[in-house]
Amino acid sequence: MNLEDYKGVWVFIEQKDGKIARVSLELLGAGRKLADKRGVPLAGVLIGDRVKHLAQEVFAYGADLLYLYDDPIFHHYRTESYMRAVIDCCRKYKPEIFLYGATSTGKDLASAVATDLATGLTADTTMLDVDAETGLLEASRPAFGGNIMATILCKKDRPQMATVRPKVMKALEPVPGRSGQLIEEHLPLGEEDIRTKVLEIVRETQKKVRIDEADIIVAGGKGLGSKEGFQLIHQFADVLGASVGASRDAVEAGWIEHHHQVGQTGVTVTPKIYFAIGISGAIQHLVGMQNSGLIIAINKDPNAAIFQACHYGIVGDAFEIVPLLIEGFQAALAREVQYGGKV
Ligand SMILES: Cc1cc2nc3c(=O)[nH]c(=O)nc-3n(C[C@H](O)[C@H](O)[C@H](O)COP(=O)(O)OP(=O)(O)OC[C@H]3O[C@@H](n4cnc5c(N)ncnc54)[C@H](O)[C@@H]3O)c2cc1C
Repeated sequence: MNLEDYKGVWVFIEQKDGKIARVSLELLGAGRKLADKRGVPLAGVLIGDRVKHLAQEVFAYGADLLYLYDDPIFHHYRTESYMRAVIDCCRKYKPEIFLYGATSTGKDLASAVATDLATGLTADTTMLDVDAETGLLEASRPAFGGNIMATILCKKDRPQMATVRPKVMKALEPVPGRSGQLIEEHLPLGEEDIRTKVLEIVRETQKKVRIDEADIIVAGGKGLGSKEGFQLIHQFADVLGASVGASRDAVEAGWIEHHHQVGQTGVTVTPKIYFAIGISGAIQHLVGMQNSGLIIAINKDPNAAIFQACHYGIVGDAFEIVPLLIEGFQAALAREVQYGGKV
C-alpha cells in the first residue's frame, strides 16, 4: 500500500428519513480542523434514497466535497448495501482519514468496512488530532476501564478510521449558501445481491428518554440504597422538568433501565446542569458527564471523587438534602407562576 496515494478527510453522513444525524454535523466540525491542519479537502459520503437535497446542508457545515450514492436500493440501512457503497468510494478516491458517528448504524458500518479494507478502526474516540507532516491520525479514547487515555495510531494502513460518540465534538456554525462539489456515484447493485431484506419497520411505541438531548439531568447512584430510594431522583427530576440519569451500579441493581446510564458504557451527556446524587465519581462515570455546563454533587462522603469533578458540592445525606431542594424549587416555581417572573 502506498500511503501517499491516500488524501483527504471524510465523514460518513448518516441520515434517517431524509434527516442528517446531528453527530455527522459534529464530525464535519472535527473533520474540518483535521483537513485544514493537513491542507486537504473535507468530504462527506452520503448514501440513501432521494437524499440529494441534503448536499447543501453538508456544505454549509464545512464539507468541500460530497460523494453521493442516491438509489432506492439504499432506502433502508443495510450493512451489505451501505458497506458496498462505502468500499467502492474508498477504493476509487482513497481517503486518508474516515470518521463515523458511534451510533448503532455508524458502528455497524465502520466495523464492516474496516474488516473488508483490512484497515484499523478506533472505536468511541473522545479526542482527534492529526500530525500535519505525516498525516497520522491521533485517535484518543479511555482504555483499561477508563484509567488511562490511549492514543491509537494506524501507521501502515489506510484509510485511518474512527467512530466518535454524539455530543463529543462540536459542529461549526452553518454558513448558508456555502457551496461545494457534488460527486454523484452509481453502484450496479440489485436486490438479488443483498442477503438482508427489510420486511417491516416497527417503531418503538414506548416513549424513551433521550438523556443525550436533555438540558437538565438529575442522576442517581448506588447511594440511593434501593429502588424505592431511587424514586427520590424521579421526584426531583419531575419538579425541575429534568431527565433522569444513573450510574452503572444503579442500573445493575435493577433500579432503572440501561438507557438512563451515563458513562463509558452508557450515554455521553452535556446538559446545562447535571446533578450527581449518591454517585462516587468513578472515572467511567465522569467520562460521560464531565463536559456538562454546571455539575452539582450531593454525597455524604466528603472525600468522594465526584467532589473533584463538580462545580458545586453538597456534603450530606441525599435523603435530607434532596427533599429540601424539592421544597425550595417547588416554592420558587409557585412564585414564578404567581408573579410571572423568573425563578
Ligand atoms: C469497563 C467499565 C465500564 C464502566 N462503565 C460505567 C458507566 O458507563 N457508567 C458508570 O456510572 N459506571 C461505569 N462503570 C462502573 C464504575 O467503575 C463504578 O463502579 C460506578 O460508577 C459506581 O457507581 P456509583 O457511584 O453509583 O456507586 P458507588 O461507587 O458505590 O458510590 C455510591 C456513592 O454514594 C454515596 N452515598 C451513599 N449513601 C448516600 C446518601 N444517603 N446520600 C448521599 N450520598 C450517599 C457514597 O458515599 C458513594 O460515594 C464501569 C466500570 C468498568 C470496569
